[in-house]
Amino acid sequence: MLGSRGGAGQSRLAARERTGQLVQTQGTQRALGEVTRNLNSWIEVDFGAAQANVRALKGALGPVELIAVVKANAYGAGAAVLAPELEGAGVDRFAVVWPHEGYMLRQVGVTRPILVLGHAFPADATQAVRAGLTLTCHSRELGDAVSEAAGMAGVTAKVHVKVDTGLHRFGLELDTAVALAEYLRGLPHVEVEGLTTHMANADEADDSFAETQHKVFREAAARLPWIPYRHTANSATALRRGELHYSGVRVGLAIHGILPPNTPGPVLKPVLALRARVARVTEVAPGEGVSYGLTWRPSRPSRVALIPVGYADGWRRNLGNEGDVLVRGARCPMAGRVCMDQFLVDVTDAPGDVGEGEVATLLGSDGAEAITAADVAERAGTIAWDVIASLQGRLPRLYHRAGEVEQIAPPLW
Ligand SMILES: *Cc1c(COP(=O)(O)O)cnc(C)c1O
Repeated sequence: MLGSRGGAGQSRLAARERTGQLVQTQGTQRALGEVTRNLNSWIEVDFGAAQANVRALKGALGPVELIAVVKANAYGAGAAVLAPELEGAGVDRFAVVWPHEGYMLRQVGVTRPILVLGHAFPADATQAVRAGLTLTCHSRELGDAVSEAAGMAGVTAKVHVKVDTGLHRFGLELDTAVALAEYLRGLPHVEVEGLTTHMANADEADDSFAETQHKVFREAAARLPWIPYRHTANSATALRRGELHYSGVRVGLAIHGILPPNTPGPVLKPVLALRARVARVTEVAPGEGVSYGLTWRPSRPSRVALIPVGYADGWRRNLGNEGDVLVRGARCPMAGRVCMDQFLVDVTDAPGDVGEGEVATLLGSDGAEAITAADVAERAGTIAWDVIASLQGRLPRLYHRAGEVEQIAPPLW
């Protein structure tokens, strides 16, 4: 129960209410089954699983800082609620991609260092300094603006410098990065705290390009030995290449309990589940068609259940006729195209008589069966990151611990 956490919890809650991020708190905890009684579809975020994953990753990775990457609304899990929980679980730092994602974390009471991995403008400097964000500095103009803002605020602002070691996305080529770092070092109110890069093939079977990138990074580090904090690794690199750990590892996906492809790791627990309640069950005769375009036509008398989740909720349209859903612990194939708000599944072979209101599991476990983000990604021709980060929009997120709901966002009406 949020209210029982006392001081810090209360002020965080107030902040979140101010920012419109949240929150319906309950006088008492309520079980998931009760809260979802009249919900068509929802995301469950398991606080206990997130905490267990932080502990398991810290144990597996050893003495390196754990930087929790909570960009893109914590990959769909809701950063305003999950980040404070992760902070409580002992992550050392946070990373986001855009400055405004960092401001939101401060508004909900996050106190650990927040690193902005992506591009920022000189016009962001004042607010970023005020919020104590650590920007990745890619230009002298940005460095000048940060130094000036920090001088006005009477502080020294930390920045990181990113070397493009071969991904060709963000960061500066080696010589330019070294020159910029030396320039920033000369500014009066800036401290160059970090040196970073990002790997291109971290989760591929052959990730040997990391060695090529590492050579460039090592050279940057040798030329900038005075920069104390170095970081290069995402989840896959952190778990596969200990030599790339350096000071901190930037872990996103694994915190959600999902291991990247080709990546061994500790036992993790899925943080997110996606469930819905069957809205209607209907009979379909052989030869009749189901959903737009009538692309699913059974050859036997069939029963199809209407699932109130659609591509507008992030359930990808190309899962039509491809994916599965769990109903009564049985794997039921999707029947026909995914619509904006709903789709159908063939429940003919599910045990018993499936009826309105029964829970369908799109992501997560039901009895002995489970559907993982990796399963869905494979069916949809995409990656697990995309599957969970696409779950946004109108789906309410229910934050629970062992099935007892603690917070809900956005508020239910
Ligand atoms: C998203 C991102 C990460 C986290 O990646 P995961 O594979 O989810 O762990 C790390 N570093 C950078 C620069 C990123 O953009």
